[in-house]
Amino acid sequence: MKKSRMLAVLGGGIFCVAVMSLYRMLELMQGAELQQRVDTPIGQDKDLFLLQQKIDRLELLLSNNNRLVAMLRDSLIQRKASWETGRGANGSSGSARQLPGCRLAEEIKDGSDAVQLLDVYDLLPFDNPDGGAWKQGFDIRYQGNEWDEQPLEVFLVPHSHNDPGWLKTFDRYYEDQTKHILDNMLIKLSEDSRRKMIWAEISYFSKWWNGINKQKREAVKRLVGAGQLEIVTGGWVMADEANSHYFAMLDQLMEGHQWIQRHLGVKPITGWAVDPFGHSPSMAYLLKGAGLSHMVIQRVHYAIKKHFSQQRTLEFLWRQSWDSSPRSDITCHMMPFYSYDVPHTCGPNPAVCCQFDFHRLPGGRVFCPWRIPPQPITEQNVKERALLLLDQYRQKSRLFRSPVLMVPLGDDFRFVEASEWDAQFTNYQKLFDYFDQHPELHVKARFGTLSDYFSALSRRVAAGTTLPTVRGDFFTYADRDDHYWSGYFTSRPFYKRLDRTLEATLRATEILFSLTLAEMRRLHGDGRLAAGFPAREHFGRLTAGRRSLALFQHHDAVAGTARDHVVVDYGNRLFDSILNLHTVLQSSAHWLLLLDKSQYHHDQSKPFMQMVDVMSSQDALPQKTPLTLSDQPRSVMVFNPTEQLQKSVVSVLVDSPDARVVAAETGQPMAAQISAVWAEPGRAATDSFQLDFVAELPPLAVVVYHVTRSSVGSAPQARYTFSRRGNPPNVEVEHFQVSPPDATLSLSNKHVQIWSSPETGFLQKLRLQSGHVRQVQVQFLWYGTTTNRDKSGAYLFLPGEEGAQVYTPPEPPLVRVSRGPIFSDITSCFRHFTHTVRLYHLDGHAGRSLEISNTVDIRSEVNRELAMRLVSDVANGNRFYSDLNGFQMQQRRTLAKLPLQANFYPMSTAAFLQDSMSRLTLLAAQSQAVAALRPGELELVLDRRLQQDDNRGLGQGVTDNKLTASLFTLLLEDRRGGAKEVGGASVEHLSLLAHLTSLSLCHPPITMVAPSDSQLPKLRPFLPLRSSLPCDVHLLNLRTLEDAQEADNPSQEVALLLHRKGFDCSSAPEPQLQCTWSVHEEVDLADLFSPLRFGSLRRSGLTLLRDHDEPESPRQQTSRITRLRPMEISAFRAKID
Ligand SMILES: [Zn+2]
Repeated sequence: MKKSRMLAVLGGGIFCVAVMSLYRMLELMQGAELQQRVDTPIGQDKDLFLLQQKIDRLELLLSNNNRLVAMLRDSLIQRKASWETGRGANGSSGSARQLPGCRLAEEIKDGSDAVQLLDVYDLLPFDNPDGGAWKQGFDIRYQGNEWDEQPLEVFLVPHSHNDPGWLKTFDRYYEDQTKHILDNMLIKLSEDSRRKMIWAEISYFSKWWNGINKQKREAVKRLVGAGQLEIVTGGWVMADEANSHYFAMLDQLMEGHQWIQRHLGVKPITGWAVDPFGHSPSMAYLLKGAGLSHMVIQRVHYAIKKHFSQQRTLEFLWRQSWDSSPRSDITCHMMPFYSYDVPHTCGPNPAVCCQFDFHRLPGGRVFCPWRIPPQPITEQNVKERALLLLDQYRQKSRLFRSPVLMVPLGDDFRFVEASEWDAQFTNYQKLFDYFDQHPELHVKARFGTLSDYFSALSRRVAAGTTLPTVRGDFFTYADRDDHYWSGYFTSRPFYKRLDRTLEATLRATEILFSLTLAEMRRLHGDGRLAAGFPAREHFGRLTAGRRSLALFQHHDAVAGTARDHVVVDYGNRLFDSILNLHTVLQSSAHWLLLLDKSQYHHDQSKPFMQMVDVMSSQDALPQKTPLTLSDQPRSVMVFNPTEQLQKSVVSVLVDSPDARVVAAETGQPMAAQISAVWAEPGRAATDSFQLDFVAELPPLAVVVYHVTRSSVGSAPQARYTFSRRGNPPNVEVEHFQVSPPDATLSLSNKHVQIWSSPETGFLQKLRLQSGHVRQVQVQFLWYGTTTNRDKSGAYLFLPGEEGAQVYTPPEPPLVRVSRGPIFSDITSCFRHFTHTVRLYHLDGHAGRSLEISNTVDIRSEVNRELAMRLVSDVANGNRFYSDLNGFQMQQRRTLAKLPLQANFYPMSTAAFLQDSMSRLTLLAAQSQAVAALRPGELELVLDRRLQQDDNRGLGQGVTDNKLTASLFTLLLEDRRGGAKEVGGASVEHLSLLAHLTSLSLCHPPITMVAPSDSQLPKLRPFLPLRSSLPCDVHLLNLRTLEDAQEADNPSQEVALLLHRKGFDCSSAPEPQLQCTWSVHEEVDLADLFSPLRFGSLRRSGLTLLRDHDEPESPRQQTSRITRLRPMEISAFRAKID
């Protein structure tokens, strides 16, 4: 086709797209108008209202136009690019396009079958008008005859929200409150079978259970069996949904569910999350996967709540953005009002509802801030009180599609004393009795559990009525005004990083321990374990580690929103668990490596090996243990916890600048590099050196290397240049070559070249092997806090109006450049942070990205937050992508109508910007806040120090900052043939290369070393798998289950958890990756895990409580062939023979 004709066709195509988009825009606007007509004010406000409406409409038009222009520009660039490369615009991008993982994005597009929350954000004005009694809502009206046919059915759901640590530690809360709540629960529920209660936190419940006798346990089981007590969600905690990683979210759910199954023998079916500060669809996915059918959420932006209330869509089917089927749907109930306390649950008017919190009766410790106290219900006032309450119930009911109403009754740490139980239950019973005696009111009210409510709901929802479907997430939460809760995405970043260190350690230990037990059974052939191997003690350490990680997923723990001393308590738990898990790792690796297993012995005081990376306390960064070298080899053992063959750089400290590394098995020398250890930025230590070597690590293998002192000059050394303000400063560097700085600062390997500023050392641009150059400039910034009364604190981010200020250092930085055969890096040493960009000279995925590491210290600052920003020329418009819990990517739109702090989102593992030519992905090893405030920009908040409380109950600022590390990988990829529009709520995934890079970043090899004085027995590498798993299949966990008969003992069964990742088609790597991926959804697990053999393998729910509800084909039943769907996690109960 001639170019001119093609241009005409292309022009026509673009025009069609534009017209269709405009048409859709008008349609959307009509919808908005219709909906706004509902609550148009009358009288003098009307003119203003109409003006406002016009402005809103203009704003909407503008924002849609922007999107359209971005789309047109992008498609033009795209067409241009495809001519230049000689590819058709819709041409295939190679084999990747045909694969199940990457087909996903194309099937869903904008999820037009469902309400997309991003579209709701585009529509809403976020104008925050006063709604009357229900400040953030509207006046609700009813006739009074609405319930004549179908009476109102009210379930009052008693609950007590028990934070496993916040103002007090977990143990203190337990002693002071929780213990008494549960003790009284047993007494007070037993007194009257009409009484009900729900309980969520298994961390507390299990602790209480351990302290009660057999009779009481039987009584608890009776209450559960009779439906008076319902365990809801059943997680170890009510998990944070922003900062938590899906491994830990699932693990805490599994720990809770396994406990419930063992001790209560029930299966939770409803979810209850009333306090996490925003809600993630990843949690919805896990709950559905664990067999729950309903869930309740509460902390959602007030404007979204109002919109959902107006649309009567507070109950909906929450569907995963990437799911083209209804498989992931779970029925979700969003609470409509401000809070889960009594004033905000009976109806829209808190001044009225507070009068029905009988814990606030006059004379008590708590009262109603609306100054109308509750009254005890008497014969004299029962009618008036009942009608007052009924009015609130009826108003609330108008927000829902069914005549069934849920009214939670409770608050934080409620129902402590017996008197509180009596006050609530007897007064409410009198009101319920009154309703029963007056059928003309058409209301039936009673105490209920969540299951009572949801089963009545499904009974009463008319046949054929379906709930609306919703896709998307509920971040970023605001509870009032411009109070956005984006501060906690970063608060206490030291512990957010420690959380992920424990997570990686736990996963590695689970896998190695399970493989060790399997190997022992295989050797003995009769199911026995090795004599002297402390399997039971190790299983206890594993369980404690699971529970520490689980506890830390609580919404005030990983969130960084607890009091200082509580943070230290969590820190100690995380730290102790890491040490205990190291014991299990060392002991397992020891047994596995021994050629002669009879030489195994376990001596806790004198372990066979030690970790190379050790933390000295809960608030210190890990340090490397220095190795003393001699002519005798020191053994270094490296465990690869990933399911992929990895070429990894292993790093140890040695006492000599001359060292040599060989593979113990073959004697083959390994590529190595000696670098300086920095006592100060410009002063190298003279007694300690860093030895890095390239280890080729098969999947899940433990490999042994020998390190010896070698002849002088035998090991390649790093070469250095130093500069301050472009000039060479005074430095003290023995043993290493120092050259004067070059005029330009550039590093390169086979795949990437980078240029950095000689003044600051900060990255400026990148060039890929393809010749493609992109500007990517690193900046550091300060945010301050507003001068208004309400300032930033642990939860809230309330920056000053001036926004971010570029970091201007008090003195120019020292820039240190190191060049070596294994890696080269540029380190910028400022007063408040040290920033390093490193390039590895490696084949495979490690050579394709830049490693960025920061150590931050802002302890000298007042009300400041430090951010790192990347400024690129990627034309992403106002769209970017950030991950949700490391499980999935979510599109974000930066909206000018929202305040700056509203445009920050949580990021656990990844964020990217893209246009038709490139994708710039930043992968992270810890959680923090992310934003893309202007096109081409991506910024992360690294630490925050805030002197004041932000009035959400914590009662203190955040000033316990530490020397804090953060670790990232920056990946620039060419996009090929991806005719993706920039606009639309499209579903995107990381590329396969990004998945592999993230895997290496989050699960680095674990290095151990044998003490020098030990006479080493003969060791042999442990290689459990024949080959890598497909690169889109992630071994999430291999978790040994507790023995059903013998408590606290490991069983022969494991939970095998596999996550098949969705991946992007437009950036299939060239040349191909080392690993392969399957074209089919069906895979043969026997083949995948060969030579491991599964004695049994049963597909199961995600927490192993239930059998999988999807029937398997006869072929699947008899073989190890199973279906792994892209994006899905699959769980199996397995025995490894
Ligand atoms: Zn809470």
